[in-house]
Order: sequence, then structure tokens, then C-alpha cells
Amino acid sequence: MEKGKVYLIGAGPGKPDLITVRGYNILKDADVVIYDYLVDKKALESVKENAELIDCASLGNNSEGGASLRQDRINKLLVKKSKEGRKIVRLKGGDPAIFGRCSDELEALAKEKIEFELVPGVTAASAASSFSGIPLTGRGFASSCVFVTGQEDPFKKESLVDWDTLPKTGTVVFYMGAGNLKEITARLISGGKDKNTPVAVIQNASYLNQKVLTGNLDDIAGKVKKQSFTPPAVIIVGEAAKLEKKFNWRKRNKRILFTGLSTERYFLKGTHEHVPFIKIEPLRDYEEFDAYLKIIEDFDWVVFTSRYGVEHFFRRLKDAGFDARKLHKVKIAAIGQSTGKKLNEYFLETDLVPPDESSGGLVESFRKIDLKGKKIFMPRSNISDKGLEKELKALGANVTASVAYKNVMPEDLPKLDFSGFDEIMFTSPSTVRNFKKKYKRVPGHIRVSCIGNVTLKEAKRCHLVT
Ligand code: SAH
Repeated sequence: MEKGKVYLIGAGPGKPDLITVRGYNILKDADVVIYDYLVDKKALESVKENAELIDCASLGNNSEGGASLRQDRINKLLVKKSKEGRKIVRLKGGDPAIFGRCSDELEALAKEKIEFELVPGVTAASAASSFSGIPLTGRGFASSCVFVTGQEDPFKKESLVDWDTLPKTGTVVFYMGAGNLKEITARLISGGKDKNTPVAVIQNASYLNQKVLTGNLDDIAGKVKKQSFTPPAVIIVGEAAKLEKKFNWRKRNKRILFTGLSTERYFLKGTHEHVPFIKIEPLRDYEEFDAYLKIIEDFDWVVFTSRYGVEHFFRRLKDAGFDARKLHKVKIAAIGQSTGKKLNEYFLETDLVPPDESSGGLVESFRKIDLKGKKIFMPRSNISDKGLEKELKALGANVTASVAYKNVMPEDLPKLDFSGFDEIMFTSPSTVRNFKKKYKRVPGHIRVSCIGNVTLKEAKRCHLVT
């Protein structure tokens, strides 16, 4: 059998959209993904349905046999899987070639003459720098920057780190040093670094729960101890760390918790943190829905009330062996621009999008059209409100609504630290209800904003807004 190939890809520091486009495209197509414990599981959502996913944590941990034994198992696994002739992705946290034993894996592959490629990633130091507003170099304060492992005992005689030159370096970033902070800072001071040198410790860089603590070489270890910082964290030492106070845009900007699904939305004002409070899933059984698709040409209108309805409608249509031509006689309405845009992706234009983008707006627009005896088909979610259906029936239409997808509560909603947020934006009644279920109330300092009146009504009903 022909040997496969191994791609060592940097997944970035955590936030799933910090992987490179190249890494993402290769990952999507992988047959086997062997991933590190620091890789965010959301990064794995793009892989093929039948791809084999292997968590390196399953190959042992530091307490049972140590990191070397686990590394040996990873190397063997990479070789074994690539000999099966498949496309293997070795997904590593941050950049694949910065710490994390990249060369051990490359040695193992090279020895077996297995082809490989490296795809760079955003390393933790870069992420910590950007997400806390600390430029690592700058003309006035640092003309060099070094990355150092903080795992070694700095007072050990045969240390591989050159502790005597470090105090002379502009910016020093320590990886894996959270547990050794006291020793690291003491060693730098005893090596001649001014004890007032600014230090920043950045935990969970880029994540929603990122924490930044600043101080100086003398007091940072004590501060970190009080706050019970846990890994992963990087330590930035040097004048650069002082800039956090001025440039930490996460603290400066208004921070808005965005609860909708559309991650492509970026806004002019404020920093929007995307935490989807809903999850869209296909149904297990499409018997009923498919039966309507087969006779869709018998309807006068199809009314789409969400872009997920559009997606599932066309996915089912394709699976049933049809394409958009099946709709050639049917008129199409969309509840708003974003649903309309989704239809355009299937090269379909809409016959009706109400100026007021809501179910009420749809009814108003339909009022101007004679719906008596007209047959309307509405793909909907398992929890949609029946109001629209009733109102269209009241206009004389013969309405058939059928469930096309499920709108469910995500199981993995994070524990949120609301103190860093200024506003929460609800995008649909279901985001409101799921928030209420999980977090009960909105803390007093947070402003609530709602997209659309129906969402606002639900927020009032749930006492999340007055
Ligand atoms: N290859 C990785 C580093 C692996 S070593 C990279 O390029 O980033 C693991 C160390 O990386 C951790 O101990 C921590 O120091 C750092 N690290 C990884 N992810 C991090 C994150 N999100 N925030 C802060 N530090 C992180």
C-alpha cells in the first residue's frame, strides 16, 4: 500500500478562528486527526464526518509514564496511521514548531521515509501579545524578543536556558512557566534584571475567559498566587508589558456578548464575543418533510423564515434527487435580507422580502397580495411560533408547515464571567430562553439589546429586561 502523508498543523492558541486558512482547508479533508489536549474541540467541527479523531490525552498523561512515553506513542501512531495510506493531520496547539516536541515527530517520520508538511500557526506568545495589547517589540522599548521554556528549574546547574543573557534581552516570553513563576522572576533578578521591570501574565490567551495580570518582577509571583492562575499561561517580561494598560483593547472597547449563530457578523462598535446560545441540528427522520418536497410544484409559495430553513430545504431537495428547477413555478418569500441572501447562494431570487423584517412584516406584505386559496409551504424549526401560520391562514391561504431542522440548546455553554461584559445581544427568542435556563438572570451592570420585537417581547416575558 502506498504510504500516506502527515500534515503537522498549528491550530492556534485556542479561539477556533485563529487557525490559518491553509490549515483549515487541509484539516477539512483529513482522514485521521491526531490532536493535542490544548486544541479547542470546536476546531474539530470542520472535519469530515467519517474522519478518525484521536485525542493525544488518550495515549497517556504525564503521571503514567511521563511525557516521553506519550510522545513515543504519538510518534508510533503517526507512523502506523500514515502507513495505512491515509491523509493524516497532526493538529498541535499554537505553532507546530514552537515547543511541543515537533522535531521528535519529524525524526520519526523522516526515519520511515514518510512524507510530511508543516503548516504554521499562531503561537501563544503572539496571541497573548495581540489579545492583551502588548506589542512584543517596539523602537523605544525592545528591539529583540525571545521565547523561553519556563518548565526547567532556573537554578538547575546544567540548564539549557542561558539565564545570564536573558536579563539583557528586550522582551522575554516564557511558555510553560506558570508553575515556576517565583523561581523565574528570582533568577532574572539575581541575573541583574531590574526588579521593577514590568511583567504581564496572560492566561487562556484569546479565549473568552482570558485573564491578564500585570505587575513587576518583584511582585508578580505573589499576585498570581493570590489569583490562583492555572495553565495555560505565558509570562511576558520587559518594558513592553507596561503597554497593556494603554493598549488592552479588550478592556477599552465596549464588550458585547453576541448570542446568535452568525459568526461572520462583525460590527463597527465594540468587541463582539460570539457565544451561540442555540444550535441547529438536522432531524433524525425526514419522511414527512421529504413527502412535501416531492410535490413542491403543487404549492404557490414557499415561505422561508430563516436561513437554516433554506439550508435544510435545499439539502433535502438534493438528497431526494431534485434541484432548484423543481421550484420553477413556485414563488418565494423570505422573512428578511439574511434569509434572502442565503437563497441567492442557491441562485434564487426572492419574490417577496418585507421591509419590516419580521413575521409581522411578512403578514403585512402578504395582505397586499390575494392569498385566497393559495397553497403555502413553510419549512420551520421544531420550536417556531405558530403565529405566522395562523395569520396567513386568516388571509385565506392554505398553509402547510413542516419541520425542517431542530433548534436546540448547546450542551457546552461555558461558565461566563459577566464582569468583563457591558452588553448582551439576543438575536432570537430561543437565545433568550436558553440564556434564562442556563444563567437565570442578567447582572445589573449589563445592558440588554434585542434584535426584533419578538425577541424583545420574550426577553420581557423572561424578566431579563424591563
Ligand atoms: N506550540 C505551542 C506551545 C506548546 S507548549 C504554541 O506555539 O503556542 C504549551 C505552552 O504554551 C503552555 O504551557 C503555555 O505557556 C502556552 N500556551 C498555549 N496556549 C496558550 C493560551 N491560550 N494562552 C496562554 N498560553 C498558552
